[in-house]
Amino acid sequence: MDKLYKMKNILLIAIALIAFSSCKDSNKVEKDHSSTTDMDIAVTEKASVKLYTLDGGRVQVNKLEIFSQGELYIGESKTLADPFYIIEHPKGRLIWDAGLAEGLVGQPPFTTPNGAFTVSRQDSVISQLKTINLTPKDINFIALSHTHFDHSGSAYVFNESTWLVQESEYEFVTSEEQQLNNKDNYSAISTLNNVKKLNGDFDVFGDGTVVIKSMPGHTPGHQVLYLNLVEAGPILLSGDLYHFQENRDNKGVPSFNHDVAETLKSMEAFEAFAKENNAKVYIQHELKDFNKMPKFPKPLQ
Ligand SMILES: [Zn+2]
Repeated sequence: MDKLYKMKNILLIAIALIAFSSCKDSNKVEKDHSSTTDMDIAVTEKASVKLYTLDGGRVQVNKLEIFSQGELYIGESKTLADPFYIIEHPKGRLIWDAGLAEGLVGQPPFTTPNGAFTVSRQDSVISQLKTINLTPKDINFIALSHTHFDHSGSAYVFNESTWLVQESEYEFVTSEEQQLNNKDNYSAISTLNNVKKLNGDFDVFGDGTVVIKSMPGHTPGHQVLYLNLVEAGPILLSGDLYHFQENRDNKGVPSFNHDVAETLKSMEAFEAFAKENNAKVYIQHELKDFNKMPKFPKPLQ
């Protein structure tokens, strides 16, 4: 009995030792594993967001003076980029702006009746999305900086996405006056039936990495987009708060803006926000800024 008891004890101690050592081992693995996880979390604490820059055409401005209150750029012309963007977040996708009218694809450049702009577009949104294996159904949200024709061209394609629009912009573009005088602007958004009306800033995925900022003035509900990227850091997409670099340097307000005072107030708020967040500013129509983006299909991230 005594011998058996002794053996039982030895066996129990052995089991305990094995259990302890395996526990120690598993702790070690756990710890190693958890330390890797900690590191991963530290690196990817911000959700990994990708920004694809797509080509929505070119705008040749034949009368650059319309981008001032009349005193600058007289007799000058300038080529503007017209990109739009796909933002890929772990929780979904957003398209920001939608380029020029898709009817321009395959056509010679078109000059607007007032002679101010000559516009062209090389490729449709569906064909560009295909390059990154997406279709419009994969895009959860659509947001336009504003509803002018050079930002809403492909919007009608995203009729299953939720349209994130400032209430003031929605009222403006759907008003009887606009439906009559700016038919194209209206018809570009008239297929968007899932509407989420905003009144101010909106954090699209709820984690601060993709934030629509209300910056009225160019139009009643003009907005810009703030992104906080893991590698590239914080950036701001300007919408049409500025059209080119000199506009930003001079705080130049185009002659066709909806409200000059509101525009200047938004410029002030934008610059303060950019400074506070150390955000790199990309002026969407500025060709130099367009060329700074990784060439599609490579994303900025
Ligand atoms: Zn524009």
